[in-house]
Amino acid sequence: MKVLFVSAEMSPFAKTGGLADVAGSLPKAVAELGHDIRIVMPRYRMIKGDFKYVTDFPVRIDQSVETCVIRQTEIPYAFKGRKKSLKVYFTDSYRYFDRDGIYGHFDDAERFVFFSKAVLDMLPLINFKPDVIHCNDWHTGPVCLLLKEKYHTNEFYKDIAALFTIHNLEYQGHFSSYVVNLLNCGYDVFTPEKTEFYGMFNFMKAGLVYADVISTVSRVYAEEIKTPQYGERLEGLLQRRSADVFGIVNGIDYDQFNPLTDKNIAKNYGVDNLDDKKANKTALQKEMGLPCSDVPLIGLISRLSGQKGLNLIIDRIDDMLSKDIQFVLLGTGDEYYHEHFRAIASRYPGKIAVYLGFNANLAQMIYAGSDMFLMPSRFEPCGLGQIISLRYGTIPIVRATGGLAETIIDYDADKEHGNGFSFVDFSSDAMLGAIDRAVSVYNSSPDEWKALIRRAMEIDFSWDSSAKKYEELYKHTVNKRKS
Ligand code: ADP
Repeated sequence: MKVLFVSAEMSPFAKTGGLADVAGSLPKAVAELGHDIRIVMPRYRMIKGDFKYVTDFPVRIDQSVETCVIRQTEIPYAFKGRKKSLKVYFTDSYRYFDRDGIYGHFDDAERFVFFSKAVLDMLPLINFKPDVIHCNDWHTGPVCLLLKEKYHTNEFYKDIAALFTIHNLEYQGHFSSYVVNLLNCGYDVFTPEKTEFYGMFNFMKAGLVYADVISTVSRVYAEEIKTPQYGERLEGLLQRRSADVFGIVNGIDYDQFNPLTDKNIAKNYGVDNLDDKKANKTALQKEMGLPCSDVPLIGLISRLSGQKGLNLIIDRIDDMLSKDIQFVLLGTGDEYYHEHFRAIASRYPGKIAVYLGFNANLAQMIYAGSDMFLMPSRFEPCGLGQIISLRYGTIPIVRATGGLAETIIDYDADKEHGNGFSFVDFSSDAMLGAIDRAVSVYNSSPDEWKALIRRAMEIDFSWDSSAKKYEELYKHTVNKRKS
């Protein structure tokens, strides 16, 4: 099969969260199954390199025309130890993408309309006719719309199917109805059945309405988003399209995230030499200015946003830190959380260390050096932190929602299969209870804790099984388009 994977971010080029990890790893696993999968993303200013020029062409946006330059690179990677490479195309535009940062510009609507049009327009020019275009999150919603409303009448595009994957339903891309002009469409697409959403144009809704098939990144979240609690006001649409909504849990790149070979950590280790994990705890404590002691160290790495349940921590930080634990937090996001965590860090030196910024190297040190990893999310489509933690033998403490509920089995509820600690109620009490339970096993039964670490590290969350599910879904998407 030929697949074009369309994403606004991709590791290692540009990343704000899990979408980049998925874009940087799922296509490799799909390629391993024998498919021709290529990736396309915008070339932001941060993406430096001497990339090969492929072609350029004009893209019409309302009444104006902007040039898009397509560049290409092959990213080398190891898959199960073998050397491979993957084709990545960049849409380059001086006007729209030669800027700092990824999102948050005044003209984001125009930028991602441009991107969506460029993605479709480049296909005949690069001589690549995909069976499926795999769109991801709101930035790519217009691809699905344009394909159905405009491009399908053209022979080249008429059989191309679209899969739209929701990585996070909270971010939908709401903009004024002027987007219709940017798309050079008629206002007949701006109706409640199509893209109109409380008076605004909704990019995500465009994807959900026009894609042949919809998926999201865990089975549990696929169900949750059909309810008012998690549906972000799109639950009605998702219920209507229920037969076309699938959930496939994310994997992680087992070559990239490997404690045996990770170059960012102080000492490599695996299930057979678990004692070497300790050296990483000491290194992390030194790096973060915490005393080098053996008290349980809880790590947290996250975008600092309302979704992540950080208020459960902030509200009861005194209770949490009255326990004999250490806490390391790495994150960036809303200023509100920056202020709170900065203040907390200055009140509890020696107990909590905070790094407010994005730092991929430190993240690896935390995954390797912590004993436990906290994710008290309000909602979590999949979550990668808990999966990376398992791989590093760091025991997750999570709120049982979305992908966290799907991947983490509570140890107290199921001693035979448990791989972490989870709580159901979205409350500080429930979270503190789960932390207590984890700390108690850690302190009272070192052998039990070690067995838990071993079990965590032996669970397989590589892409192998999920990539096969995507393969099936691609086939289903093609059949759906034909029917
Ligand atoms: P989301 O996509 O909602 O941000 P995920 O758990 O799916 O959450 O993915 C988050 C990814 O981003 C993980 O790989 C995590 O390690 C990484 N990450 C988040 N914040 C930071 C940060 N401040 N520094 C480095 N990596 C981070």
